[in-house]
Formats: sequence, C-alpha cells, structure tokens
Amino acid sequence: MILRLILGDQLNYQHSWFQKVDNQVLYVMMEIRQETEYVEHHVQKIVGFFAAMRAFSDYLKKQGHHVFYIKISDPGNLQDLDDNLMHLITEKACSRFEYLLPDEYRLDHQLNSFCKKLSIPYEPYDTEHYYTERNELKDFFKDTKQVLMERFYRHMRRKHNILMGHGKPVGDTWNFDKENRKKLPENHILPEILTFNHDVSGILSEINKQKIAYVGKINPAGFSWPVNRKESLESLNHFIKNQLPSFGTYQDAMTTRDWSLYHSRLSFSLNTKMLSPHQVVQAVIKAWKAQQNVIPLSQAEGLIRQIIGWREFMRGIYWWKMPGYEKLNFFNHENNLPYFYWTGKTKMNCMHYCISQSLDKAYAHHIQRLMVTGNFALLAGVHPDQIDAWYLGIYIDAIQWVEITNTRGMSQFADGGVIASKPYISSASYIHKMSDYCKPCYYDHRKKYGEKACPFNSMYWNFLEQHRQKLQGNQRLKMMYRVWDNMNSEDKKRILTQAKEYINHLNER
Ligand code: FAD
Ligand code: SF4
Repeated sequence: MILRLILGDQLNYQHSWFQKVDNQVLYVMMEIRQETEYVEHHVQKIVGFFAAMRAFSDYLKKQGHHVFYIKISDPGNLQDLDDNLMHLITEKACSRFEYLLPDEYRLDHQLNSFCKKLSIPYEPYDTEHYYTERNELKDFFKDTKQVLMERFYRHMRRKHNILMGHGKPVGDTWNFDKENRKKLPENHILPEILTFNHDVSGILSEINKQKIAYVGKINPAGFSWPVNRKESLESLNHFIKNQLPSFGTYQDAMTTRDWSLYHSRLSFSLNTKMLSPHQVVQAVIKAWKAQQNVIPLSQAEGLIRQIIGWREFMRGIYWWKMPGYEKLNFFNHENNLPYFYWTGKTKMNCMHYCISQSLDKAYAHHIQRLMVTGNFALLAGVHPDQIDAWYLGIYIDAIQWVEITNTRGMSQFADGGVIASKPYISSASYIHKMSDYCKPCYYDHRKKYGEKACPFNSMYWNFLEQHRQKLQGNQRLKMMYRVWDNMNSEDKKRILTQAKEYINHLNER
C-alpha cells in the first residue's frame, strides 16, 4: 500500500495523481489542530478549508479512489500531521509514502524532517498548479540586484506566449495603468456578485466542540464561498461576464456601498488549487478575444498581470528568501497592533469599514489591505510579527507564501525593499481620492493637526521624518522629503506633536 498525503491547500482536481484509480494507493487528508492553531484564524477560513477538503475527498471517493479522511472531531485524530501519518503508515503497513510539495516553508520543513525518520521509501511530487518552479524567480534574477516585478512579468508573458504577437505585447504596450485605477463614480451601479449558500452548521459545531479559538463572523446556514471545483468555475465564469469588463478601471477604488466591487474573489479557489491559474488566464484570454468590444485589453491584461505577475512573483520571492524573511523588521517597529483590528471599533471610518468587512466576510480587496489597514499599521510603527499574524488569520485566502510577501514585504516594507521600491504609505488625500470613506468620518481628512485632524496625515509626515536616515536616499520619496522640508517649522512641530499623541494612544483612535 502506498500512502499519499493531500494537504488542505492541495485540492487540485486535475492533478495527474487522480487521473487513474489505483487500488494500491491510499490517500490521506486530515483536519488537525496543528493547522487551526498556528495562528488565530477567521472562522470562515477554518470552515471554508474543511468544507472544501471534505468536498474534495467525496469527489475522489466517487471516482473510486481510496481515501482515509480524518475529521477534526474523529476520536482517533492525533491532531498532529506527523503523529497521524506515522500511525497510519504503521496501521496500514504502508510500503511507501508520497506527498505533494507544500507551499509553506513550515510544512515543507516538517515533512522533510518526518521523511528522514521513515524506514520506507518516500517521494515528493509537484502540485502541478503554478506557472513557475519554486526556484525559477531566484534563477531569473541571479545576475541582477534589481528585483523588479515588471521585468519578471514581461518574461512570463514572453515565456508562456500570453497576450503576445510577433514578439511584442498585444496592443503595443505592457501596462495600462493610465487607463485604470479610477475612483468609483457616485451613482455607479455595481454588477451582482456570485455567492453560494452552503449549510456548514455541522462543521461549525464540530469546531466549537473542539473549542478551537477563532475570530470573525459566519452565517452557518448560508456560507457564501465556493467549496469545490464546479463552484470555483462558476465563480470564474461569473467574474469574466460581470466584473472583468471593468476590473482594471476600478481596481483601486474603495466604497462603503460594496465589499468586492469588480474584484474576482477567486483567491480562495486559487490558493486551495480548486482552480488553476492557467485556467483563469486561458478563460480571460478566450473571453477577451471573443468580445473585445465588451472586455477591453486593458482589463484583461490587468487581471493577467495579477495572476502570472504578482502571484507567481510573490511565490518566487517566498522560496528565495525563506527562512529568515519571516523575521525581517527593517524599521525596527515595536508597537502593538491596536485592539480595534479585532473589533472594527474605531472612529476612523476607513479603518472601521475595512476591518468590519474583514471580520464579516473574511475578505478585503487589495487596496483595502494595502492602503488602509496596512498603511495605518506601518505609519503606527506596529511590529511586523503582529501584523503578519493578523493578516494570516483574518483572510480566507491567507496562506503564508502569499500573505507574508504581501504583508511584511509589499505592505510593511519590513524587507527593506525586496518587493517594493518604496513603502506603500499615504496620507488621507489618497484614501479620500479613491473612496467615499472620508465624507462621513469623525475625522477631517483635510486637517494635519488640531481637533479631529485625520490621523493618517500627521502620522504620514511623522513616518517620513522618523525614518529619514533609511529613506531619504530613495529616489521615489525625494519629492515628499522636499515638501516636508519646505513646510514652516511651526507646522512641522505641530504635525509631529499630533502624530506622537495619536501613536501613544493608538487604541483611542
Ligand atoms: P483580484 O483583485 O480579483 O485579483 C485576482 C487574483 O490575482 C487574486 O485572486 C490573486 O490570486 C492574484 N493577486 C492579486 N494581487 C496579488 C498580490 N499582490 N499577490 C499575489 N496574488 C495577487 N493574497 C492572497 O491570496 N493571500 C493573502 O494572504 C494575501 N494577503 C495580503 C496581505 C496584504 C497586506 C496585501 C496588501 C495583499 C494581500 N494579498 C493576499 C494580495 C491580494 O490583496 C489578494 O490576492 C486579493 O485581494 C484577493 O482578492 P481577489 O481574489 O478578489 O483578487
Ligand atoms: Fe480615514 Fe482619515 Fe478619511 Fe477618516 S478622514 S476615513 S480616518 S482617511
């Protein structure tokens, strides 16, 4: 008997393992406390993973495969990966162990060590999900110091012949940013999003009986995320028809009127591998080719850039820089994450909205993560460990390889500029420009100091001043340092005093 392990984020329905039934193979899947407890997760994330794993196991069984599924509530569950595996190998007298390469360093390391203890042969297999190999990005950049996503993205377009014609990008340009990234007009009507309606009360009650700690809300009678391949494909098709035509245009817009605007909400399906990035890219290209008057090239390219560009880039950086990346703290930030990150109870409307939405939906779109919650944490000098733990727990799509690179790297610049060429910081002016959050806010987005002055304003200048030594040489920040240096000294003093007051009492904001 060969034992093959399938982890919770390895639900690749199209993997070559599953194309033929083999009576000598036993697949094992397990819900374990080791995975529910390495960080405090959103309840929808735990439930979503378990529901998708159970659906995958049912699918395999229907195909005739032999699956040993260990539920979180099973009395024989030893709640630890190594212990469950070892028990099964002995009990079933397995002669060989095979597993799919994990996406997280933590599990990769654990399985490597586990295999060394085995007295039977073992072998890891590729997950057959990504465009790139683990070390491809590292090799691509081996001769240069400048690690630019844009260069890698163009290489990916060429290598995989995506949106290319005669060696040139289709439309004669690689980037449509000028046409994209607009604010949502006031009376704009957003298209319907596709949600599902699963009864997950059984899973939830098992989680509760196990006393697993979690954050966030859930409607157990109407769980809305896709939990199998069929639903993931329906989500993709719905997105292409309804949201893709304006995806790029409103990619950076934020509003209290809706929680995902034109975003795809495909990250959970992608990261669990129910959906393949190749399939997303092919479907987008097919739709664009068939309806170029409805889906402009700028929108199709915008989405493809996220999938073959940013997503693969983050994975490559992760395998290049781990271990060690998870400890980086370029600015030596030490402050605690304000408590309102767990409740949404803050007078800052942008933060209140983005955090409450995250607690309600286990989702926030990219700009909410980057330019509101991430931006505030960076300006507030919060320790990156605490920010990572929050992002890793709260989002349904959060798996370390893509969470930590986005959080510690892109959002917090804790890697000193491996991923971003400058810190993603802004004052209230950006949030006001891109959202409708500021108008009803307790704070005044125009004020830098004084009564009800928006915290983002003084904290923005304070951040630049505080980290002048580390940042003033950065070309992309030169202009901001000039603006700051040209402000009158009385204003500067008041701004810094205001910022100190806010940062010293973060929980009162
Ligand atoms: P869309 O906007 O519709 O984009 C389509 C797809 O492109 C996404 O599903 C995703 O697979 C990919 N994508 C887009 N941007 C990125 C990016 N920067 N990095 C990697 N892939 C990207 N993404 C995660 O999948 N898991 C995380 O834990 C995660 N944590 C983040 C933390 C912070 C602080 C920030 C700033 C971003 C994070 N992201 C993360 C990236 C991005 O915000 C999410 O992928 C996106 O919001 C998911 O929603 P969507 O599927 O509607 O994406
Ligand atoms: Fe956020 Fe400041 Fe705008 Fe309020 S005024 S919503 S705190 S940016």
